[in-house]
Formats: sequence, C-alpha cells, structure tokens
Amino acid sequence: MTVEPTHVDVLVVGGGPTALLLTSLLVRSGHKILAVEQYDKLRQGLYGRACLLYAGSLEILDLIGVYERVADIGFIIKGATTYKDGAHSHTRGWSFVENALAESDTVFKHSLSLRQKHLENALREAIEEVDDTAVRSPVKLVHYRTVDSPQYPIIATIQDRGDTREVRCKYLIGADGGRSIVRKLGNFHFLGTASPHKWVRLDAIVKTNMPSSRSHNIAIESKTHGNVVWCPTDSGRTRIGFVHTHQGHKITESSIMAAAKEAVHPFTLEFVKLDWWTVYEIGQRIADTFRKGPVFLAGDAAHTHSSGAAQGMNAGIHDALNLGWKLAGVLNGLYHEEILDTFTLERLKCAERVMELDKDIASLVSGEIPEHFNAPPNADAYEYLDRLHSTNALFTTGLNISYEPNWINQPSKSLAATVEIGHRAPDGPLFRLGRTTAQQLRTLVRYTGRFWILVFSGKLEAVDGAILLNPGCAERYRTLRAEIDSPPSFFHSRPASWDFLTIISGQGVLPASETIGALPLGKALYDFSGEVFAAYGVDENMGAIVVVRPDGIVSFKTTLDGPGGEELGSYFGSLASHHASAWLAAEARKHSYEGYEFDVEGEEASGYIFKSSRDVPPSPNNDLRF
Ligand SMILES: Cc1cc2nc3c(=O)[nH]c(=O)nc-3n(C[C@H](O)[C@H](O)[C@H](O)COP(=O)(O)OP(=O)(O)OC[C@H]3O[C@@H](n4cnc5c(N)ncnc54)[C@H](O)[C@@H]3O)c2cc1C
Repeated sequence: MTVEPTHVDVLVVGGGPTALLLTSLLVRSGHKILAVEQYDKLRQGLYGRACLLYAGSLEILDLIGVYERVADIGFIIKGATTYKDGAHSHTRGWSFVENALAESDTVFKHSLSLRQKHLENALREAIEEVDDTAVRSPVKLVHYRTVDSPQYPIIATIQDRGDTREVRCKYLIGADGGRSIVRKLGNFHFLGTASPHKWVRLDAIVKTNMPSSRSHNIAIESKTHGNVVWCPTDSGRTRIGFVHTHQGHKITESSIMAAAKEAVHPFTLEFVKLDWWTVYEIGQRIADTFRKGPVFLAGDAAHTHSSGAAQGMNAGIHDALNLGWKLAGVLNGLYHEEILDTFTLERLKCAERVMELDKDIASLVSGEIPEHFNAPPNADAYEYLDRLHSTNALFTTGLNISYEPNWINQPSKSLAATVEIGHRAPDGPLFRLGRTTAQQLRTLVRYTGRFWILVFSGKLEAVDGAILLNPGCAERYRTLRAEIDSPPSFFHSRPASWDFLTIISGQGVLPASETIGALPLGKALYDFSGEVFAAYGVDENMGAIVVVRPDGIVSFKTTLDGPGGEELGSYFGSLASHHASAWLAAEARKHSYEGYEFDVEGEEASGYIFKSSRDVPPSPNNDLRF
C-alpha cells in the first residue's frame, strides 16, 4: 500500500514537459519530491500540442541523459524547403534553423520533431527509475496557502481521486500550464497582449504530391492561410499549421480538413487519419515575476505565446533546467537560498525576448507586417519574417541563450580566457590518453547537479626528450594543486558542489601525472588540435580555469595558478553566502515590466484558447615531478 506523503520538500504542479524535466532533476537530489498532474496522461490519447525540439533543447536532454530515450522515436529534420506558388526554394521559411546549426559547434545538426507526449513519457520513465512515487496522476491541486512556518511554509490542498487532502511543502512550483492555478492563487500578474489571429494546428497521417513532404520542415507561403507550417513528425504523422480564416463558421473536424487542403494549395492533401486538431487564439503573456518566496512559476504557467517559432516546449525545458539545479543545490545546502532569485532574473529576460519576437512573428506568419517595421506598401510579409527569424536564429534554436552578469555569472577582469561569462559553454573533441576516438567535451561534463571546473593546463612540448606539459604551465598547475590541497583550502572545508576536468593541449604519451608533474585534477583529456583551447580563448602557453554551471553555462574564469585557486574558493564561497543580497536588490530595482498593454487575469489568460479534442583526493604531496 502506498503511503500518501503529508510533507514533501517540493510540490510540483503539472505533468507537462516543464514539470517532468524539473522533477527528473529534483528527484536525483534525494529529497522528497511530489509532482501532481490532474489528468491520467497515459490514458489521454491526445498526441498534439508542441512537437519541435530545437538543437539547444536536444543538448539539454543529452546533458541530463534523456535524449537516448527519444532519439529513435522522433523525426530528425535537417532540411528546409519553402514553397511559393508551387515553386520551391531552400531559402526563407525554416532555413534559419539550418543556418544557425551550421554556425554552431553543436553536435545536433538537426531538430527533432517529436510530439510532446513522447517526451513526457520519456521523462516520466527517467523519474520512475529514481523514485516511482514522485509523479501522481490524476491528482489536482485545488488550493494552497502560505503559513508562518520556517520549514514547511506552504499548505496545498489536492484532490487525489475521490479524496481531498493536504500536503505541506517547502517549495511549490507551478508548472501547470497557461491557465495556471498556482499563478492565480499566488496573485502573480500575468501581463500581455492579445492578437486578432487564430491559428489551426493538426496532426495526421496524410498523402500528398508535395516534394520533400517526409524529409524537410516546410513553409508554404500561402496567399490565403498565412505562412503554412508542414512538419513531418513521429510515427508517420505530419504536423500542419495555418491561419484560421473561416471566422464565424462552425469549426468541425471536416471543416478543419477542408481548410487544410486549401492551405497547402497547389499541392494535394488526403487525410488517412486525423489524430488531433486545435484552433487557438494568439497572445503573448508573461508573469511579472517567476518567484514569490517559496512559490515559482515555470514554462507556460510563466509565459505563453504563439507557436510561430515553436518556443513553448523548448522555453519550458530551459526554465526547468535553470530552476532545477539551483533548487536541488539549495535543498542540499550548497547555495544560499537567494540564488533562487536568479531564476527570475535569468529566465524572465529570455521570456521577454521570446514575447517581443513572438508578437512580430505571429503577425508576419499571419501575413501582416507590424507597423513599427515601417515597411513600404506592398512589401512581402514573408521576407520580413525571414529577416526576423535569421537575426534571432541562434536564440530561437536555444544555442545562444545567454544570461547577464549576476551573482552566479561573475564577470572577471582576468584575461585568462576570452570565453564569455553567461554564455553556453563551447563544445569540441577531446581524447583520453591512448585513445584514437574523440569524446565531445559536452558529453564529459554531463549534468550531475554540480559545477564543472575546467582546468586548461596549457600545451605539451618536448622537454629533455619527453612529451611534457611546458615548464611554465606545469609550475602554475603545481601551485594551483598545492593551493587546492592545502588544509585551509575552501575545497576541504565545504561540501563539494563541483567536479574537475583537466584539459591538456596536445597528444599525451606518458601517464598524466608524469606529463603534468602533479596528479591531475579530475580526469585528464587531450585536445589534440587545440580546438577546445581556441573555442574557450585560452592561451596554450598560459592555461586558465573556466567554471561551467550545471546547466552548461560559463559562469567564472580565472588564472591557472595559486591565486586562481584562491579565487575559485572565493567564488564557490560566495554562492553559499548572503553577499548577493545588495546586488540582487539593485537589479530588481532596475528591472521593469513596462510596455505591456494590459493585465489579463482569468481563464482567457492562456495563450491557447482551444477548441478540441557533481574529485580531488587530498594528498600531502601532489608534486610528482620526475
Ligand atoms: C491546445 C494547445 C495546443 C498547443 N499547440 C502547440 C503547438 O502546436 N506547437 C507548440 O510549439 N506548442 C503548442 N502548445 C504549447 C505547448 O504545449 C506548451 O508550450 C508546452 O506544453 C509547455 O509545457 P508546460 O509543461 O509548461 O505546460 P503544459 O504542457 O501545459 O503542462 C501543464 C500541465 O499541468 C496540468 N495541470 C494544470 N492545472 C493543474 C492542477 N491544478 N493540478 C494538477 N495538474 C494541473 C495540466 O493538465 C498539464 O498537463 C499548445 C498548447 C495547448 C494547450
């Protein structure tokens, strides 16, 4: 018999991609996590909703070990085709994705078209392997209140099948979608705009004479139904999306299929099986903050927008990762609780950018050029859409999501490395001693909930007939090691929230400790071509230390020497201290949410109004010079 929990560390409301990804990270921390989903999703036959995972999201799924669970289900999309009047081109439309991928060092040179339900199933399986009681459905949150209790400040009321009961928690996360009850009960403002446009989305098995229909992401520049989306997806299905033009008419399955045939003109379209369809209103809405004390909002609960740039599920994934490692670290006593404020700071700015972009994208997809573009008469809306997509391609695909300097992303005056703080950590090929096959750096710094300290040790050279780390770098490496190993070092006085990886430029021959003249910090990897040193902007004659957050963002850099080791200690010390308060308060004052037209509360606040179906072994003497 399952004993129903009365006290949990975190109560996550929702069973969508955001809630499940967050839960999958939190359960690994060993704390008591409960995620409640109001519907029995396993029985819910709906396969629609979000269906496109960009490379940035695939990197996250890979980082947390979930990508393999969906890799064989999803449809790999590499190409893009645009049709206008039946003629094809490889420009405009979705070509911005390919261009962004070509520009990036990501190993995911594709998008994965996968309906939301499959990702949810994969995440649920990953959670069950750690804690098979963490996700409960159908269980609905109906109310919560905060009480003056330092330990469990929230009392939530949930309906669990026929019973109504209370669960107390330390933190409550509303990942409960666009109509979030957590947001409403918490009196978060949900600010935004509505647009006059309605869009149709459907999933079906179809037959068509359209070339590339089962290989590329296709945009059809229709004269009547806006910029039509044609996206092959899993299980032989195709996602088709277009502007709903039959306003005022009764919407039925047949009317949707008829409209789809018109939208893909001049190509033929025959429906073999229609799985799912929806007609929804376009709006862009965002909460004024993503945190109020112990209550958080993430994913669609925090921001809703159109699916014009397929950002819904992708943005939720980035939210979940950003909050997940921070909250797990706070629960584990690694960081000061105020680190949680950086969730709003970081993710809200990204959501604001998505909102601003989406307003324009939604208009342009619908064939209208926003006034502020000052376009000449008869200008081509789709040309403007292409320019907007192209300018923002790396952001949209999640490969250039960056966060401003803050308590975690600490700007440095050190010239040790030119890699940018607050940006995605670059990738590149590295080799273990003796191996001829490379491993990508990003696969070596998988998610553990801890930071990665990358020790760029410098380059190898011939010294007295042996291939060794050049003498200057070797000396600095040894002073760093001595600093770290010294008994008063921060590294011996705090619970570790970090792992080390040593990166050496060149091809090693001797064991790493002989090559360096000291025990390596973490595993030693070799950068044969110097590509990784170059990507991080590290001088091979000097070396450097670069710190990467658990979510793959560069957060700190310093010199490869004893003082660098001290700075590392100060950095990790600051994450566990109160020092951030003043900085955060100043940031909060700077932040404003002006520019939104009105405050929307209530049911209509949803963007979708739908009709349808973590080693350093202490060593007294690590100086291993031979
Ligand atoms: C009808 C519809 C169509 C969409 N179509 C597209 C599309 O074509 N393309 C695209 O990119 N995106 C689309 N989206 C958006 C996309 O689905 C979301 O952006 C994405 O799912 C966000 O994930 P999430 O986990 O934040 O929220 P959701 O996926 O919405 O998950 C929230 C979950 O919380 C549960 N929940 C809500 N209230 C409670 C409660 N009180 N107690 C317990 N559980 C609760 C809900 O049942 C739901 O499962 C669509 C959304 C909707 C609603």
